[in-house]
Amino acid sequence: MSENKKITIAIDGHSSCGKSTVAKDLAKELSYSYIDTGAMYRAVTLFGLRNGLIENGKVDEQKLVNQLPNIIIRFQYNAEEKKNETFLNGERVEDEIRELTVSNNVSPVATIREVREAMVKLQQEMGREKGIVMDGRDIGTVVFPDAELKLFMTASDQVRAQRRFDELSGKGSDATFEEVIQNIRERDHIDSTRKESPLRQADDAVVLDNSNLTPDEQLTWVIEKVNKILEQIQ
Ligand code: C5P
Repeated sequence: MSENKKITIAIDGHSSCGKSTVAKDLAKELSYSYIDTGAMYRAVTLFGLRNGLIENGKVDEQKLVNQLPNIIIRFQYNAEEKKNETFLNGERVEDEIRELTVSNNVSPVATIREVREAMVKLQQEMGREKGIVMDGRDIGTVVFPDAELKLFMTASDQVRAQRRFDELSGKGSDATFEEVIQNIRERDHIDSTRKESPLRQADDAVVLDNSNLTPDEQLTWVIEKVNKILEQIQ
């Protein structure tokens, strides 16, 4: 593998299809940074929930937009856990943002233009130096349209729901499989049909359907693509 040239890797796709698993594995293998952009939209949502700006699934868009300058999101590397953790206004919120309450409210928040503009600006700053793996819904289409490698990931909704259900159960959540699959379908629908930066496959993205692949198999598949690109640009 080449030592000197760094590229940008954009990973988009449906909810819970393993984007973050492949992104983390890739970042580790290449010694790149990994940025989970979903965590940023989740942190904004958590702020809204805590401050009464989202009630009964309804977002007070104007109030949330007015609060954007007061929503400071950053990532900090946890050396013990060997992963980046999400901080909202100085508080570690890594676990809270993964809870179903946040999952159930995040997609409406992510439809708001001003929220997206603020997050995209931050994301572009984070990736300015390349050597980055970023996952989300609009990374290859909006955030880094010039990324050297774009992956579009998907898997059947049953497979995705089972993975997310197992993950949540392992953390002690009492969410049912039905609730989880419902949430995934709902988010896919909102993410794909919204006006602002809908989830879509970039024309130059490669599709990775990992319904029947293990994490190791998908990593090998992607590393092959990365190596080919690195060989071409040296
Ligand atoms: O990736 P994750 O499932 O954690 O993202 C949570 C939600 O944030 C998605 O369902 C989507 O609505 C939104 N999102 C987005 N654009 C991104 C990343 C996430 O709209 N780049």
